[in-house]
Amino acid sequence: MGARVAGSQVSQRVADLRAHLLTLAADEGLPADRVHALDDADVAACADLPDDTLRAYLHLPERGQRMDAGQVPPEWGEPARRTCEGCGPVLLWPECPPVVKACPWCFRRKAGKAIPRPPVTCGDCRHYLPDAVNPDAGLGRCALGARRAYWPMKPHRCADWRAP
Ligand code: SF4
Repeated sequence: MGARVAGSQVSQRVADLRAHLLTLAADEGLPADRVHALDDADVAACADLPDDTLRAYLHLPERGQRMDAGQVPPEWGEPARRTCEGCGPVLLWPECPPVVKACPWCFRRKAGKAIPRPPVTCGDCRHYLPDAVNPDAGLGRCALGARRAYWPMKPHRCADWRAP
């Protein structure tokens, strides 16, 4: 009997949480299906979380889809150029430190998906071998391969750029 009462209390709590999530989803302009798709265990895990966290949670699938398509999530604000030790130059949120060991693009890159790259220049890359005659402006070489290097100050996208 006691167990049945406890079970119904849990069900009621999950129902209340789900109703609250539906309200938040509507407020965020998200489809109700996003809440209906959550199983009870996921909903129960939302207990005691602040609304800001729950709102962010409801946006997670959207964020994942955007990132899978190589787009920076808008909630990152103005994306900043950062260096991930795995990915190389990437766009991350502005509060991120200049160099990170891993980033949210890592597993997408490993899965062969396109990730957004900030422009870089060969001239300030550790792999750049400046032109012997005109090191500042002449066309040098890239230590990673022939015909890879650009003019030292020409912006371009390169996954192998690394700080000197
Ligand atoms: S091609 Fe890429 S790795 Fe090579 S020097 Fe330029 S930025 Fe660096």
